[in-house]
Amino acid sequence: MRITVQKFGGTSLANYEQRDRVCDIIQKTLESGSQTVVVVSAMGRKNDPYATDTLIQLVREVNPHPSAREMDLIMACGEIISGVVLTAQLNTRGIPARFFTGEQAGIVTDDQFSDAHIKYINPKNILACLKEGLVPVVAGFQGKSENGELTTLGRGGSDTTASALGVALHAEVVEIFTDVEGVMTADPRIVENARLLDDITYNEVCQLARDGAKVIHPRAVEIAMQGGIPLRVRSTFSDSAGTLITHQNHRQQDAVCIIRDRLITGVTYTSNIAQIKVNISQLDDKKGMELKIFKTLADNGISIDFISVQPELIMFTVLPDDSARTISILKNLGLDPEVEMNCAKVAVVGAGMTGIPGVMARVVEALTDNNIPILQSGDSYTNIWCLVKREHMEQAVKALHDKFELGNS
Ligand code: ADP
Ligand code: MG
Repeated sequence: MRITVQKFGGTSLANYEQRDRVCDIIQKTLESGSQTVVVVSAMGRKNDPYATDTLIQLVREVNPHPSAREMDLIMACGEIISGVVLTAQLNTRGIPARFFTGEQAGIVTDDQFSDAHIKYINPKNILACLKEGLVPVVAGFQGKSENGELTTLGRGGSDTTASALGVALHAEVVEIFTDVEGVMTADPRIVENARLLDDITYNEVCQLARDGAKVIHPRAVEIAMQGGIPLRVRSTFSDSAGTLITHQNHRQQDAVCIIRDRLITGVTYTSNIAQIKVNISQLDDKKGMELKIFKTLADNGISIDFISVQPELIMFTVLPDDSARTISILKNLGLDPEVEMNCAKVAVVGAGMTGIPGVMARVVEALTDNNIPILQSGDSYTNIWCLVKREHMEQAVKALHDKFELGNS
C-alpha cells in the first residue's frame, strides 16, 4: 500500500473553514488509493489562542526564565490541541481518524530540551492504525527522550516530524502544506514577483532554509535526503503542484535526469540580529585578545555568528537577547565594545555560484545603487551574505532579487 505523509502548518489549521479544506485534501488522497499519515502544527500564528508563541507567553508572564523542561511541556500542548480538533473534524466528516502524541507515534529523541534531535522512530502504533483503516493524525514538533521526558524539536520542527515519519514508513512522498504556493525565489510576503520553483534539489533548498527561508526546516530536508524520500511543498489553499524537492527530475518519464543546481536559487533574510564591534587598537596588550574574547563568550554560553577578525577590529553578531550580557562580559575584559542593535542579514543563495566571477560585484552594486550601507559581509561556496540595518532589509531583499533577475517578469 502506498503511504503519503501530509504535514499541515499552523495557518492551514487556524479555523474551522481552513481545517475543512485540510479534510478535503486528506479525503482526496484516500480516494486516490494512497494511505495518509497526517502531521499537524499548532493552530494559527502569534497571538492566536493556542499558538506556540501564545503558550510560551503564558508562562513567561509569570516567570521570565522558566525551566527548559516545563517549557517543552507547555509548547507541546499546541500540537496536541490542533491534532485532537482535526481528528474530531475528520471523524464528523466520516473519515475515521485517530490522534497520536509524538511519544505515542514512537518518536524517540535525544534529551536536548527545545531543540531535540530525533534518534529513531518505532512506528508500530501508526502501522497498526493504518492496518485498521484509520487515518493517523500525529502531533508534530514533539517526541520523548530515552529518559522518558517530553522534548520539542525546535521551531519549524513539525516539518522534521513529517520527514522522519516519511522515512520510517517508506512513504512515497512527504507533502508539506503551507500558506504559500511552494518554495519561491524569495519570501513572497516581501517580494511581490517572487517566482515559484517547480523543482529544486535537496541541496539547494537546504541552503535556502539554513539562510533563513523558513518555508521548510533544514533538518527536515536533511532527513528526507538521507532517506531518499521526495518532499513536496505546496499550498493548502490552491491545487497547484507546488515545489518538488528531490535529487532527480521526475517530470522526465522515461529517463532519470539529475537537476542541476542553479547559479542563484533565491534571496533570503534573517531579521533579528545585533552586531558587536570591538576595536582593540588602543589596547596595550593585544596579544591573544581575540582568543580571550571568543573563549569567554563561549564559556558564558553565548553563540556568535558572522565573525570577522582584522588586526585591530573584531566584529561578530549575536541574538538581540544576548547583546546586553555580551557587552557586560566584554567590558569586564577591559574592552569598549560598540553595539548596533537593529540589524538583519540578507543572503544570495545558490549552490551553483562556486567559482563564477562577478556575483559579489552584483550584490554590492544592487545594494549601493539603493543607498543601502553594507555593515559587514561574507561568503561561502553557496552564498554571499551582507549585514544591513533592519530598516533596509526589505529593500535589500527586493534589490538583490531584481539584480539577479529571479522574479516573474
Ligand atoms: P507553516 O506554519 O505552514 O509551517 P511557516 O510560516 O513556517 O508556515 O512557513 C511559510 C512561510 O515561509 C510563508 O508564509 C512565507 O512568508 C515564508 N517564506 C520565507 N521564505 C520563503 C521562500 N523562499 N519561499 C516561500 N515561502 C517563504
Ligand atoms: Mg513552518
